[in-house]
Amino acid sequence: MGLFKKREYIRIVPSHAKPGVADINKPSVPDKMWEKCPSCHKPLYRKKLGVERTCHHCGYGFRIGAKERLSLIVDQDSFQEWDNNLSFSDPLNFPGYMEKFKQAQETTGLDEAVITGKCKIGGFETVIGVMDSQFIMGSMSQLVGEKITRAFEKATEQKLPIILFTASGGARMQEGILSLMQMAKVSGAVKTHSEAGLLYITVLTDPTTGGVTASFAMQGDIILAEPQALIGFAGRRVIEQTIRQQLPEDFQRAEFLLEHGFIDKIVLRKDLRATLETLLMLHK
Ligand SMILES: [Zn+2]
Repeated sequence: MGLFKKREYIRIVPSHAKPGVADINKPSVPDKMWEKCPSCHKPLYRKKLGVERTCHHCGYGFRIGAKERLSLIVDQDSFQEWDNNLSFSDPLNFPGYMEKFKQAQETTGLDEAVITGKCKIGGFETVIGVMDSQFIMGSMSQLVGEKITRAFEKATEQKLPIILFTASGGARMQEGILSLMQMAKVSGAVKTHSEAGLLYITVLTDPTTGGVTASFAMQGDIILAEPQALIGFAGRRVIEQTIRQQLPEDFQRAEFLLEHGFIDKIVLRKDLRATLETLLMLHK
């Protein structure tokens, strides 16, 4: 019989086995072959994410860096970067800020949390700005504000449209009130650009929160968003504790905002380039 006998393949690892030595009888999955979608929580076969790094279940676009984003959007060799050599300042002498800033520069290869410049999309010339959430959470610093303001000023001068990809955790707390002031500064430049009759498109990516949402992210003439992107001002817990009410599950997701009229369209990452090209063509 031996029906209930332990089978051979159930191997007891001897107590003297070294920790970390893999049990050869365990099924092994190569590292980083699968990834879990942060939005729908379904497992994804990494290779299926593609260059666009999009979940094929729910359309969520994984967070990507500013340079990666540019390579997906702009015409090849058309990007000309602006203002990447402005000098850093630490106005409050905030402990550890300088080190954190330098580390972010090293890991991302960027000078700040936004990259700005001029490019062509489908042959149409435009100013572009892309924020990077990997650089101190894409937080808004004096330099970020200055770079975006200059991008708007140059766009106004050169009579060009501007496209901004937003990704931000909010204000850079290490710069205190000077960070918050950037909201008003950029908004002023947005207004001048708008009064010149020029087009401003924002693409809200995951996550767009805090002062960026409260200012230039929501000032676009056309506001696009990526599927399932988190977009909001204050965090869920803060709001729930303030108003003492439970919020809907999908609150602060792009789909909820579309339903409530805050944004114009949700566009899959693979369609973004073509959508922007059409918008630029229509407003030429
Ligand atoms: Zn998903």
